[in-house]
Amino acid sequence: MVKVSRRAKEVPASATMAVASRAKELKAQGVDVVSFGAGEPDFDTPDYIKQAAVKALKDGKTGYTPTPGIPELREAVANKLKRDNNLEYEPTQVIINVGAKHSIYSTMQAVVDPGDEVILPAPYWVTYPEAIKLAGGKPVAVAGQEENQHKVSAEQIKAAITDKTSALLLNSPNNPGGFTYTPEELSEIAEVLEGTDIVVISDEIYEKLVYGDTVFQSFAAVSQDAYERTVTINGWSKAYAMTGWRLGFSAGPQEIISAMGRVQSHMTQNPVSFVQYAGIAAFDCADEVEKMRSEFEKRAEYTYNRLNGIYGVHCDRPTGAFYCFPDVSSFYGKKIGGETVNNSMDFAKGLLEQANVALVPGGPFGCDKNIRLSFACSMENIEKGIDRLEQWLTS
Ligand code: PMP
Repeated sequence: MVKVSRRAKEVPASATMAVASRAKELKAQGVDVVSFGAGEPDFDTPDYIKQAAVKALKDGKTGYTPTPGIPELREAVANKLKRDNNLEYEPTQVIINVGAKHSIYSTMQAVVDPGDEVILPAPYWVTYPEAIKLAGGKPVAVAGQEENQHKVSAEQIKAAITDKTSALLLNSPNNPGGFTYTPEELSEIAEVLEGTDIVVISDEIYEKLVYGDTVFQSFAAVSQDAYERTVTINGWSKAYAMTGWRLGFSAGPQEIISAMGRVQSHMTQNPVSFVQYAGIAAFDCADEVEKMRSEFEKRAEYTYNRLNGIYGVHCDRPTGAFYCFPDVSSFYGKKIGGETVNNSMDFAKGLLEQANVALVPGGPFGCDKNIRLSFACSMENIEKGIDRLEQWLTS
């Protein structure tokens, strides 16, 4: 018998993976499965970015780099934060991580002590509670208001603060909710934190993917007080279609960034050397990003309109990221295709088995009334999948 640590045992197998692996199984059997599961762009990385990595490789950029990243990239990120987000950071206040997932993990390791509470607005990305727990912290979920697209209010945050609260995790635009906090909402949240020592971890990975007249606002830029308490997390995966490259960054108070550097130096050390050069090149690709964003915007509108056209389904208009997060709870307790559906997992399983459409149940995101559809897939796929969903719901 081998021993597995308690810490590792307590990390649950991803509930969302159950549906994804069943979808794969069905596909392998030749079933024509339509998938709304992927949390990644269906576009390839722009060629200009690829060429920068190829050049770096040819130039022999193949050795270790400084743990927090090459100085040119840290500087490029500081310039990006100034240009796009109105945030002033020294390059030393920026650390390059192995994807934004790693940024979140490292931030938790740097700010959370065992027993600390971290306020986690729900719905939340499935990785957050696990990253908090792996640092010994306790996730304190606060349910977003359904009447405000599942966003939490400043009053709700205030009510969740205790003397054990060490951090608040914000994610806007949001996975899985597809909503975006307004600058005013973020200012109100910043105000209730004043006078506390709470660190805000602001995951802004979907910054470039906002729709309609939505304005993206960095939390750290709402006030000097917010700036001083915030670690801003972002990365290249979503905006530049670079999920496989594993590149993300964090910027914030020097003490926290230096602490993250110490942790990272014993964990992954530097992000891949030649990938960092691609990261610099990506910042020149505003046109390519806009092309992808506008394609996502068309799909967002189509998906949103189609979903709301289905009797019993309610969906808020997505303002950011690439997800629709409809409420399907009016079907709970009822039979669909001969099987009773009691929760989001039953819904996702039934839809996959009976209509061959894969999507993600909302339960693991802290919102069991909802399901998540990613529209980071072709329009043809979206049309076909929603046709099937509609038929299934009336079966
Ligand atoms: N934050 C959120 C909200 C995400 O949805 C994801 C990816 N699913 C990440 C962070 C991680 O991105 P990366 O590929 O940079 O690790």
